[in-house]
Amino acid sequence: MNTATTSEPVAPARDSAGRLVALGSAITVAFCALFALGLWESRSRDRDQARLAAQNVVASMSSEIERNLELYGISLEAVVDGLKMHGIDALDPELRQRVLFDRSASAKDMGSIVVLDRNGTLTHDSRIWVPMPEDHSERDYFLALKRNPRAGFYVSQPWRAIDGDYIAISRTLTDDKGRFTGVVAGSMRLSYFASMFSQINLGPRDTVTLIRDSGELIMRAPFLPELIGRSFAGTPAYERISAASSGWFEKVGGLDGVERMFVFRRIADYPLILSYNLATDDIYAPWRRKAWLLGALAVSLCAINLMLLGFLVRALRKHGEAEARMAAMATTDSLTGIANRRALDAAFAREWNRAMRSRTPVSLLMLDADHFKAYNDAFGHQAGDAALAAIADCIRLNIRRASEMCARYGGEEFAVLLPGLAPAEAAVRAEAIRSSLTALRKAQHERPDSVPTVSIGVACMIPRQGLEPRDLVKLADSALYEAKTGGRDRVEIAGRFAAAQRDAA
Ligand code: GH3
Ligand code: MG
Ligand code: MG
Repeated sequence: MNTATTSEPVAPARDSAGRLVALGSAITVAFCALFALGLWESRSRDRDQARLAAQNVVASMSSEIERNLELYGISLEAVVDGLKMHGIDALDPELRQRVLFDRSASAKDMGSIVVLDRNGTLTHDSRIWVPMPEDHSERDYFLALKRNPRAGFYVSQPWRAIDGDYIAISRTLTDDKGRFTGVVAGSMRLSYFASMFSQINLGPRDTVTLIRDSGELIMRAPFLPELIGRSFAGTPAYERISAASSGWFEKVGGLDGVERMFVFRRIADYPLILSYNLATDDIYAPWRRKAWLLGALAVSLCAINLMLLGFLVRALRKHGEAEARMAAMATTDSLTGIANRRALDAAFAREWNRAMRSRTPVSLLMLDADHFKAYNDAFGHQAGDAALAAIADCIRLNIRRASEMCARYGGEEFAVLLPGLAPAEAAVRAEAIRSSLTALRKAQHERPDSVPTVSIGVACMIPRQGLEPRDLVKLADSALYEAKTGGRDRVEIAGRFAAAQRDAA
């Protein structure tokens, strides 16, 4: 505080600019977070809607397929009942055909029903009264049930015949003692599934698939004949689908690399799984358009916000700097650049109170240029001004500590506040100032217009109740007066220091 400071008043402006930046950034971040949350929720909503719609389609198709499979089961049961009738083999072939197969035509897209004996040899065929004893023992709908007679209904691998693709639904035949006696199997045209799938409005990259639980594809829409019967066991999508009875997930398909939402469901207790697979790009396309549009809007708003914030911060900083300059001007003496009387008074009061609390001395130097009127008269006012500035520089160079301060007291008078210094130390400092001026004069070869001499009065007090800064000023002034009357260009210590301290005691 040896001169009027400029840094102190800037700090609040910098603080409020910093706070403004922090607040503005926080608002921008919060806005972006809210916006992102809104977009995310909107995306989730679109996904949920697509999933719900797919789940409804899958549920209604599954129950339709389940009903038809039940009809197949009933047809096969009718054949089983017929075979158990006493004397069935003795009947006339036409009549036997009616007894066995007439009740079994209710299921949709049914092909034929065949009965195989325990060796897999064809014994009855719904299409022929007296069939040839063909060997079916290698067919999976026979083998699987022969190996596991309690398997219930078995759904076979698809196969290709001249008139189309088929699967078979078969069940075990047993005798009275529950022993395996053969198999009854009905074939089902895959065109049944094809026509059912064709009724769904699929997106360009959506698919519907029906697979066996062992992974083979039974039907697919869009229809690709080369894929019928192909096994998808081991693919990531199959692993997910076969792990639960129903569910959904999003995954990239192995065949075409398109990411899809797979919504799947197992058809009752049958080893069949129906899956509706929606291309996620299509699900989220409207959302993506909206996100781009709103995103661009949000980014623009953020940019405008940040720009305005930048302007505001710059304006605030400029304002702060102007304020700081004004404050500095208000406490600085324009001629000499050191503190003015107002700044001195404020610092004096502060240091006085501090010294009163800590019971430490406060010293004051009062300096006055000697014969300055004559100097002005001899060399002009401008030279006088320059001389005052030179004196101020010499004083300033002798300020040592942050708590010390020099100021232009008025006219050709200066004051130096030295908190904590005893009278003797203050006198040493006064001598140092005087010596600086002497040295300067010497450096200027004692020219008559060189810097004038000064007289310095030194006073010191330990502040206490009843004493004020102006008492110290008065004391220093009296010492200055003594220096003047004692011949000028000298330092005089106030003789009443001891007396003042005695009074205090
Ligand atoms: P003494 O040694 O007794 O102090 O004599 P002095 O002439 O210095 O004292 P006096 O009070 O008679 O005169 C002070 C002079 O200081 C008068 C005034 O013109 C001059 N002065 C005061 N302020 C300024 C200033 O800012 N610039 C200039 N050039 N002169 C100033
Ligand atoms: Mg004077
Ligand atoms: Mg003077």
